[in-house]
Amino acid sequence: MGSARVLDGAATARAIKEELKADVASLASRRVRPGLGVLLVGDDPASAVYVRSKTRACEELGLHHETAALPASASTLEVMARVDDYNRRPEIDGILVQLPLPPQVDTERVLRLVSPAKDVDGFHPENVGLLVQKRPRFVACTPAGIMELLRREGISVAGQRAVVVGRSDIVGKPMALLLLHADATVTVCHSKTRDLASVTREADLLVAAIGRAGLVRAEHVKPGAVVVDVGMNRIEDAAQARELAGEERAEQVARKGYVLVGDVHAPSVREVAGALTPVPGGVGPLTIALLMKNTVKAAERLRAS
Ligand code: NDP
Repeated sequence: MGSARVLDGAATARAIKEELKADVASLASRRVRPGLGVLLVGDDPASAVYVRSKTRACEELGLHHETAALPASASTLEVMARVDDYNRRPEIDGILVQLPLPPQVDTERVLRLVSPAKDVDGFHPENVGLLVQKRPRFVACTPAGIMELLRREGISVAGQRAVVVGRSDIVGKPMALLLLHADATVTVCHSKTRDLASVTREADLLVAAIGRAGLVRAEHVKPGAVVVDVGMNRIEDAAQARELAGEERAEQVARKGYVLVGDVHAPSVREVAGALTPVPGGVGPLTIALLMKNTVKAAERLRAS
């Protein structure tokens, strides 16, 4: 057993959802039931799992939800027609386009069509621009969830050296902006960063959003640092699973066919870090809780003001 404190994202997510129930009840008293419109294109099994978790959270909170499923062969225009339908319908407050879209679909064009007022994922250029200007409206759910976790766990950010590994529009970039706005000194790393470990070892707060199982090892981590693991990687090989997740969790490969591991090599990093988010049960549930929060907020802005 290592020494790092476990940052329980699942418990924080439950607390956020619990608090949201009061907002949902208040909207209900005004005859407003927040609604989430999901668009799922193709048959990627991971996407289907994520969509199910999101719609289950809607049910838990009593939100309306519907899912439009399109085949993997759908064209950009077909996908856009569904977004347009959600844009027009008053009972839909939040629109979620589950990514990735199939290669023939122009993702940027689709995301630009989502009404900025219903953009609960915070991917529309208008919402990204507002975030850059520190006037956030809808912020991408994963980084927003991580900020909530840090706040509720009493982890101070101001003045700290934060390193974000990954520069995607969905996680890395908005994460870096949120940390900057919370007065951290922020460095962003990516696949072209030279000597990654020498940079990440400077971090008081290290966020790994890479998509490479177990890439962040003990040698990347400053003793006592807070480490947030965004990665969700399915490992199907039993030997690899043992190396990455430890003997006990690797048994899942035989039972389920895979084990979920993060971008952080937890068995070694937990010996060095001061605190670490687990995978699963860390960032994943927070992302869903923030999606619910954004959907309720969209309904409040659109229908209850
Ligand atoms: P992307 O593939 O869009 O981005 C990955 C980033 O990591 C890129 O900026 C890339 O650099 C960088 N990178 C890749 N390899 C290396 C390397 N060897 N060293 C340093 N940097 C590297 O992924 P996402 O941001 O969408 O997702 C990242 C991970 O988080 C995935 O595992 C994903 O499944 C997970 N995720 C989890 C969520 C949750 O709710 N828990 C939500 C969203 C994502 P470059 O830009 O140079 O290519």
